[in-house]
Amino acid sequence: MAVATGGLGLLGPRTALPALGADYDVVIVGAGVAGMTAAQLLSKAGPGLKVIVLEARDRVGGRLLTLRDRQTLPSHGVELGAQLIHGSQAPTWELIKRYDIATRSRHATGEPTFRFLDNSPQDWERLGALKAEAREALASEIGPDVSYQTFIETLTEDPREREMLYADALSWSAEPDRISARAVIKDGERWDDWHDEDFQVIGGYSTLAERMAAEIEGRIQLDSVVTDIFFRPGLAGIRYKYSGVTTALTCRQLILTLPIGVLKSGGVEIQPAIPDTIQRSIDSLEMGQAVVVPMMFSEPFWGAEAAPGSWSDLADRVSFNFPHPVDKGGNAIQGWFTGAAAQELSRLGPEAGISRVLQWLEQASGQQNLASKLRWHHFMDWVRDPYTLGSYSITRPGGHGRRRLLTEPVADTLYFAGEATAPPPHYQTVHGAYLSGKRVAQQVAAALRVGSISPA
Ligand SMILES: Cc1cc2nc3c(=O)[nH]c(=O)nc-3n(C[C@H](O)[C@H](O)[C@H](O)COP(=O)(O)OP(=O)(O)OC[C@H]3O[C@@H](n4cnc5c(N)ncnc54)[C@H](O)[C@@H]3O)c2cc1C
Repeated sequence: MAVATGGLGLLGPRTALPALGADYDVVIVGAGVAGMTAAQLLSKAGPGLKVIVLEARDRVGGRLLTLRDRQTLPSHGVELGAQLIHGSQAPTWELIKRYDIATRSRHATGEPTFRFLDNSPQDWERLGALKAEAREALASEIGPDVSYQTFIETLTEDPREREMLYADALSWSAEPDRISARAVIKDGERWDDWHDEDFQVIGGYSTLAERMAAEIEGRIQLDSVVTDIFFRPGLAGIRYKYSGVTTALTCRQLILTLPIGVLKSGGVEIQPAIPDTIQRSIDSLEMGQAVVVPMMFSEPFWGAEAAPGSWSDLADRVSFNFPHPVDKGGNAIQGWFTGAAAQELSRLGPEAGISRVLQWLEQASGQQNLASKLRWHHFMDWVRDPYTLGSYSITRPGGHGRRRLLTEPVADTLYFAGEATAPPPHYQTVHGAYLSGKRVAQQVAAALRVGSISPA
């Protein structure tokens, strides 16, 4: 990977920016799907353009992360981040096909699903009716955008029915009091209309990240933690720590693909302040919570007849499923925790956290002393991951409709991209990140007057 050597040395305040010249035409912060898509497209559109991607981690892919350890794990590895390609029409099929990456339909084998504290058929019927009521009630509502919890409380007084409905918020990895009712119901409806099937990436999602990075070889600099941004029309400065040493560079156009959790943490200071509209858009979002714990056991205690499926509690805060792609010989189970369950595990930390996970699994499976059968596990805490600080973006109560403001350029120089900036219902996803990378590449290509990029 490349090493950028900025000509500016340590950047001072905004006024210290040089009037002429810049080290790069385009700097992109973040080598996730959004950043690498933008880098690929801009490099192709203007082969002479100087483009560099600064990435904090020692790897590319961001929230695409497949754990591979052939000694211990099933040969295909285990997904810690993105799990599935959502939909047969997901725009990322362009990439999957280009790189000839094999996939497998989640529904291809007709595997049964096992649920823990499952809903009965009558529950499902009632749930369907309640959801239809919720959509209707929201369609005629003209009041403020309240939290999903507040909205559901007006719909039913039955605590069990409320819990069943809360699962819809948890499916966005959000507690119902943290997320906008309009986002869950309206964006959820759009998602249901659009989404058909799910697919697993054979070999793991990291394969996609590695193939994308290979196409822009020499343009990604790892171990580069951006701390400060300065901008004015036509010029931006970036201060970052490269392998711990503070350094800086300048560019004509700057693309930030930082996750919302990082943007909100204040870990990257932006000067001057970004416009109120953009700040309000950031304020209207936050990160959902997820912890992922894959586990390998000495034997398939779930029994040979229990083909891979999943268990989950009523509101989907705790679920267990068989990881990707199903390997029946692997004795592997993946624990998936969202909302309050993710926060609890994150607070407990890896050591106490795994004991809590095994308690839940014992409850789910009716087994005892699973610790004695546990051979290996990994504790992936996205809540505390310093370069994500959460799972994926959610819309806060009152924030519905503000997300799109994040796509507006600032001073024709600073741009935001990443899954949080994708239009509903595609935010939160890999293909949303891909769409945002395309959109921002198009904006920057137009600003630099280089070749055209087809619309996202
Ligand atoms: C547990 C989990 C499960 C998921 N499951 C799915 C799924 O099944 N299907 C699906 O479509 N999507 C899924 N997603 C969401 C999907 O992974 C993301 O939407 C997508 O990968 C986001 O891409 P991005 O480029 O916007 O952000 P990221 O991938 O987060 O990239 C941003 C990059 O910025 C870097 N960065 C952060 N701070 C700094 C800094 N200060 N300086 C420099 N670099 C920095 C980060 O290290 C990162 O590489 C899942 C996510 C998680 C966490």
